[in-house]
Amino acid sequence: MSSPRKVAVIGAGPMGLAVAYELARSGDSVTVFERDARIGGMTAAVDFGGVQIERYYHFVCGPDETTFAWLRDFGLADRLKWVDTHMGFYFRGQLYDWGHPLALLRFPGLNLVEKARYALHVMRAKGVRDWRPYDAFSATEWLQRSIGQHAYDVMWKPLFHYKFYEHQDSLSAAWLGTRIQRVARSRKSIFQERLGYLEGGSEVLIAAVARRIGELGGRIALAAAVQEIVSTPDAQGRERVSGVRVAGELQPFDQVVSTIPLPYVARLVPALPARERQQIEAIRNVGVVCVLLKLKRPFTRNFWTNINDPRIEIPGLIEYSNLNPLGATIVYAPFYMPQGHPKYQRPFPEFVQETIAAMQVMRPDWDPSEVVDSMASRYEFAQTVCSPGFHEALPPMRSALPGLFLADTSHYYPEDRSINESMRLGQQLAGLARAARTLQE
Ligand SMILES: Cc1cc2nc3c(=O)[nH]c(=O)nc-3n(C[C@H](O)[C@H](O)[C@H](O)COP(=O)(O)OP(=O)(O)OC[C@H]3O[C@@H](n4cnc5c(N)ncnc54)[C@H](O)[C@@H]3O)c2cc1C
Repeated sequence: MSSPRKVAVIGAGPMGLAVAYELARSGDSVTVFERDARIGGMTAAVDFGGVQIERYYHFVCGPDETTFAWLRDFGLADRLKWVDTHMGFYFRGQLYDWGHPLALLRFPGLNLVEKARYALHVMRAKGVRDWRPYDAFSATEWLQRSIGQHAYDVMWKPLFHYKFYEHQDSLSAAWLGTRIQRVARSRKSIFQERLGYLEGGSEVLIAAVARRIGELGGRIALAAAVQEIVSTPDAQGRERVSGVRVAGELQPFDQVVSTIPLPYVARLVPALPARERQQIEAIRNVGVVCVLLKLKRPFTRNFWTNINDPRIEIPGLIEYSNLNPLGATIVYAPFYMPQGHPKYQRPFPEFVQETIAAMQVMRPDWDPSEVVDSMASRYEFAQTVCSPGFHEALPPMRSALPGLFLADTSHYYPEDRSINESMRLGQQLAGLARAARTLQE
């Protein structure tokens, strides 16, 4: 059996907490370092004028098995609620129903053949078991081939454009396919979409994991950004990880497990092997500014409304209170874009104003005085651009620098980022760290 080790985990998002919990459970002395003053990463909640709500919307899908297992383990299974949700599509001046066969039949933006091809494409994607062959080509290519150029322009192009901009044609078909599949497999029937949420928010699960880490003797240090992952030469003169620097102070550790976005890692590890540095630097990401509005009344009956309209530069609106009845109408508007885009650093009120203007376009009868509160949050590395061949392009989770383990949301490619996958991968990462020391003993 391996002896207890001192392990530093960087990042207290779902992945970092999963790593820390697994290691603490097997007897390691674990410290989690979190840059923010709160746990949760992308799932962190804020007080929005008296409503405790996540900075970014989160829904649960039918295939999220790791989430279900953790909820059971933590006695929280009854917090998971399933809702029959509606979807909309705002297409050139008109809001249509979306997300079921009848809506597709009635939609005027596609002809009958295109509709049939579209339905077939979703059904095929739902049934794929092995996504590896789809890693070889782009989502754009796949969609254009499956549903035709015009249907692609109507259904997908604006969504890709207003999320990925110059990277819109560099997405892998495997990545898109698993996204389509996750939502499609969550449906109650072909006529009814069904999504889940946690009563009390994702925080309920995240906080329970954090509490258990404490009970197992682990520590979570908040407002404790790791400035450097330090390495020193061992007896053979080979560099190996020896600790982390936080607030200028070196803290010794046997192993360091990083779960922060990869671009940060490249800056933190002076001794990172050149190949891994090159791999990290080649990965592209987009950031997000996400607007939150509190309204007097519901805006639509939809949870999710996709948008294709030349006057609106937002891929969709998420009326979260149509999934999770919070006692207030809550709308999210995500502005994803590459961090270098001229709009990205604008002050938050400009994003809020743009959202309100878009809503007025969508519903000319709607008055901005319906907005009772607003806020926005920015996340620098919110979504990896997973291009064809992405799996091969990733740095290994066990670094060639002994004692260092690293992963972020891109490591579960072709699956898209989710709480479920971050927790699943966190367990795997903890297993890797344990196995590495068993091999050394
Ligand atoms: C707009 C949006 C919508 C989403 N919708 C959904 C959804 O509906 N369903 C779903 O399941 N998932 C959704 N997600 C994705 C989900 O939030 C993420 O997959 C998940 O939270 C990732 O967790 P993580 O721990 O891997 O990374 P993160 O949450 O990014 O955590 C990384 C942590 O590292 C910390 N950190 C960074 N640098 C340092 C440092 N130097 N030192 C210490 N700490 C540091 C950060 O502060 C952060 O807390 C969404 C995300 C966004 C942005």
